[in-house]
Amino acid sequence: MPNALHTLSIKGFIARFDTDEACREYLVKVLWKGRPRCHQCGFTDKIYKYASRPVYKCGNCGTQFRVTTGTIFESSKIPLTDWFLAIKLIACSKKGMSSHQLAKEIGITQKSAWYMEQNIRLMLGNKEYNHMLSGKIEVDEVYMVRDTSIPTKQGHGTNKQKVFGMRQRNSDKNEAGELRIQVVPKVTQKVLHPIIIDNVKLQAWLMSDEWGGYNNLTKKYKRGVVNHGKRQYVDGDFHTNSIEGAWAHLRKLIAGIYHRPSKEHLQRYLNEFEFRYNNRKKALELIFKSAMKQSDVRTRHKDIKLDSWKNSQKPKSK
Ligand SMILES: [Zn+2]
Repeated sequence: MPNALHTLSIKGFIARFDTDEACREYLVKVLWKGRPRCHQCGFTDKIYKYASRPVYKCGNCGTQFRVTTGTIFESSKIPLTDWFLAIKLIACSKKGMSSHQLAKEIGITQKSAWYMEQNIRLMLGNKEYNHMLSGKIEVDEVYMVRDTSIPTKQGHGTNKQKVFGMRQRNSDKNEAGELRIQVVPKVTQKVLHPIIIDNVKLQAWLMSDEWGGYNNLTKKYKRGVVNHGKRQYVDGDFHTNSIEGAWAHLRKLIAGIYHRPSKEHLQRYLNEFEFRYNNRKKALELIFKSAMKQSDVRTRHKDIKLDSWKNSQKPKSK
């Protein structure tokens, strides 16, 4: 493969993925590991490709399919070359991009750009965690302000969108490791404990602020508590600085680029943020490949409501 992907410069990237055919070839490699697989029955042995169009037929069940079947690209009229460029600009950048900017970069309408971005965010969240967090894990919550989209910490009873996060510290240097964040309906023990138990290895260290909601987990985890009320922010190893650093980045992203994400789309913005954060140290071509591997997810039009696009166009109130 030319080193265009390696450097992932815009110029090299556009030269590499200059036709939809080139994009499909890449998808065949990434999604099927080079071996076409029936979308219906999973058969790989007798798959025939039509000479005249990019369609395959399964010799086992007769189903016709494309490499884009079952992906975010299926049934989209937008060329794959535009999709690929949008994914590169969003997944492989440091800060993401507004749909307004994306529309200008690619030369498409803002409505199309907005639709693509919502799909790309869905893709970036399309993964299964295949391991438990371990060692020292910082846990924390933030509250998203609906109208201005600025996350603020204002106590647990606040009537705002709630986001819960866990961040592993890499054991050797205590540096920030994997981050997992999600929208939660409530910040209560009943909601948060099962999430922690599903994601964090038993007997790991849980680092949190003084909120008592985590205290009942002491039989399962070792606990480190920071008392922010007493202005105790760093007590040796007991701190939540890494996850608070992540919230600060999220706050900037939401305030600066994605004004006022609506309630139903907030998780998608978190997907994008988490993906970029967890992949930030990888080479760009690997980030792109990781994103593409997750493209096998379908959205229905009704899931991405265009009303929300219209709402997102309203001027920001200050
Ligand atoms: Zn089949």
